[in-house]
Amino acid sequence: MNNDIERVLYSEADIAAAAQRIGAQLAQDYAGKTPILLSVLKGAILWTVDVMRAMDEYAEIEFIDVSSYHGGVESAGTITLRTDLTTDVKGRDIIILEDIVDTGRTLKYMVELLEQRGAASIKVASLLDKKEGRVVDIDVDYIGFDVPNEFVVGYGLDYKDLYRNLPYVGILKPAVYTAEDSATLNGQD
Ligand code: 5GP
Repeated sequence: MNNDIERVLYSEADIAAAAQRIGAQLAQDYAGKTPILLSVLKGAILWTVDVMRAMDEYAEIEFIDVSSYHGGVESAGTITLRTDLTTDVKGRDIIILEDIVDTGRTLKYMVELLEQRGAASIKVASLLDKKEGRVVDIDVDYIGFDVPNEFVVGYGLDYKDLYRNLPYVGILKPAVYTAEDSATLNGQD
């Protein structure tokens, strides 16, 4: 699997430091508020567990599955709500935990959904912010790293549902998604 990566952008240690920094900041900013940490499946799972463990403050955990990518490397532009969260968000402080914000469409969709349902406040903590890709006007409140406009995988981020278990974030070799006969995509690596 490692052989499919052209370059590591953020190492395991870089990411651990970012999770510590943001977890500590959230603990400070949400002291006494018991926010809901809303993790966006599947990409934000690793980021969620690392940030929540670094946040020494009362918080609830919820999940939502919203998809704008359909297994490829380009954003599809249409958002699908696959799994809704199970808690009433009315009057609650929500922290959306995202893996990456690119066009911003997914985030905007979730923010509007939570606003309609009466959330008291909505902030976003994303591992990666791909600002160059932004199409809609939306900001990320807590950013792990500003990432260049390239397709990245690892630490939750996938290509065709693979590479999520890499402990770092890296750039996939273009040959992997151009060559149909890639060993990895045939499950041989
Ligand atoms: P947006 O709606 O902001 O364009 O896209 C957000 C979602 O697109 C992310 O949650 C992620 O699933 C996917 N995405 C955007 N950029 C990348 C990327 O560079 N790599 C991967 N693996 N997914 C991405």
